[in-house]
Amino acid sequence: MARNSFKKSVDKLKIIVLGSGSIIPTKNRFSTSFFIEYSGGRILLDIGPGTIEKLRRLDIRPDSIDRLFITHFHLDHTLDLPVLIKVRMFNEFGGPNPSPRTLNVYGPTGLKNFIDKLISHEGVYSYLSEMMRNLDYLKIHEVGEGRVEELENLRVYSVSVEHYNGVAYRFELDNVTIAYSGDTVYDERMLKLAEGVDILIHECSFPKESILGKHTSDEDLINIGERTKPKILIVSHLYPVWEGREKQLEDKLRKEIGCKVYVVKDMDTLYV
Ligand SMILES: [Zn+2]
Ligand SMILES: [Zn+2]
Repeated sequence: MARNSFKKSVDKLKIIVLGSGSIIPTKNRFSTSFFIEYSGGRILLDIGPGTIEKLRRLDIRPDSIDRLFITHFHLDHTLDLPVLIKVRMFNEFGGPNPSPRTLNVYGPTGLKNFIDKLISHEGVYSYLSEMMRNLDYLKIHEVGEGRVEELENLRVYSVSVEHYNGVAYRFELDNVTIAYSGDTVYDERMLKLAEGVDILIHECSFPKESILGKHTSDEDLINIGERTKPKILIVSHLYPVWEGREKQLEDKLRKEIGCKVYVVKDMDTLYV
């Protein structure tokens, strides 16, 4: 970035913005995905179209991802999932990978059914389970309310939010707390989850005057920032209406909320 910009105070945690937009592509933004590297491994938050290609451009092997957290089953958050599942079966040269790494996939209730419809024997890509045994290397976790994972250096909590079948997550990784909204309206459950986090990654789809669907506006985000008081606010899921107005949005949020604010674009890298 440009915004390579966060000071590298701890060299453990890295966040790369793989997708910071909506389903409507612009020059700098498309769909949603974040890559996080911490001492315990590599995780993805959502996996919209373009995710795999961007990982490759960054020289990150897609099969090095241990965990994927899906917020909801909209296209712009899930479309590259079958690709991530398939590429694990191959080595760098396209030959078979004899021992693929297990991929843990977390998501809302219905995740198992969602994945079955894609790659089970009756799925649209049934050859992935019939010929390639991809299902053997998947561990599916349907998340509810509260704690959904507890490992060394990684604790994860989730709540439902008001957007399709949406959930939001809170991560505690290497002593850094991160809350990730996925898509949502202003939602008290999200606010409670995100209270006092180091980093809040929140959507801001539209300006207040042109808000559409179950999304968050700039005015909503000011209230959310004031209530949750993060140290750093990462603003994402921008629709094309924001193009060329990012600096203005960033300045406004910073002034009103009083924390560090980064309105991100695809491929920005943030060190924490
Ligand atoms: Zn959505
Ligand atoms: Zn979305």
